[in-house]
Amino acid sequence: MSDYDIAIIGAGGAGLTAAIYAARARRKTIVFEGKVLGGQIATTDIVENYPGFPDGINGFDLAQRMFQQAEKFGAEFAYEPVDRLTHLPDGGFQIATSERTITARAAIVTAGADYNKLGVPGEAEFTGRGVSYCGTCDAAFFVGKEVIVVGGGDSALDEGLFITRYASTVTVVHRRETLRASAILQERAFAEPKMRFRWNTVVEAIEGTDSVERVRLRNLVTGAVETLPIDGVFIFIGQTPNNHLLRGLVQLDAGGHALVDLDMATGVPGLFVAGDLRTRAARQLVSAAGDGATAAISAEHYLTTLDASPERHG
Ligand code: NAP
Repeated sequence: MSDYDIAIIGAGGAGLTAAIYAARARRKTIVFEGKVLGGQIATTDIVENYPGFPDGINGFDLAQRMFQQAEKFGAEFAYEPVDRLTHLPDGGFQIATSERTITARAAIVTAGADYNKLGVPGEAEFTGRGVSYCGTCDAAFFVGKEVIVVGGGDSALDEGLFITRYASTVTVVHRRETLRASAILQERAFAEPKMRFRWNTVVEAIEGTDSVERVRLRNLVTGAVETLPIDGVFIFIGQTPNNHLLRGLVQLDAGGHALVDLDMATGVPGLFVAGDLRTRAARQLVSAAGDGATAAISAEHYLTTLDASPERHG
């Protein structure tokens, strides 16, 4: 007999939505969160593109509302990082933290991904106050402003081009003199009059008082250091998916994201992955929430089928 029907690992937008659906389906549900409720949105000042909030909503407040909704339907929360996820011989799952070990008949992993950081002075201090890791989320705050985009991959150019709809100039700061981004994005970026490029250049510091006012740049070829007045710094130097629980258990893509089907199902029966940790995620709150709902509905179908089978486990 398992302790829970459904265990959800991660309480960001995907995990909280999965919890609402799972608990509302009257499945005994537990949610593990090792950091902060809401994940990436918890540190987002204003979420303006989540449907239903025409004036936007503070990310932390939105996460709290999702949490209350999940709790109202009976989801339990454990504020502990999960150390181990094990697929048991009976088909269920064991989840171990430093505090407890529980079993669940199905598991949904929504551990997300962390944006890679530059690790320069001012980056952490000005995050949400001019430093951003998401153009789609934050570009609208930079109407008529001058921003830099750090990175030379698809994200830097894709998001950089999006930001040109709002900002007056978007300067791509790249550490080499060739871009990693696909040819089509490079063509578009080079053709966009608002886009500028600083090659062989790295950001050494982000400075300001209340918000970002300037960056210190270093040219890696000449060694020249320059201070550039700027209103915003968008950083797109890749993401690291939080996949440590999944390694060796499910198939991952080249970037370390879990391969799932349209039901958010992995190759392991009863194990689902949703949100930024899954392959080809749109990396938006609304899509993470959609993924979470899909995963919970799939888990519910999985349990219903299991309950009807003569070899039911747990
Ligand atoms: P990425 O392809 O890994 O590119 C990261 C970029 O950041 C690289 O140009 C890299 O420089 C630079 N970088 C890494 N660490 C840095 C550091 N510490 N300081 C300065 N620069 C640093 O990551 P991504 O652009 O997020 O793309 C991830 C995946 O998503 C890719 O497979 C991409 O094709 C896909 N994607 C596709 C689209 C699209 O098709 N529209 C949009 C977004 C993402 P180097 O080049 O020197 O290594």
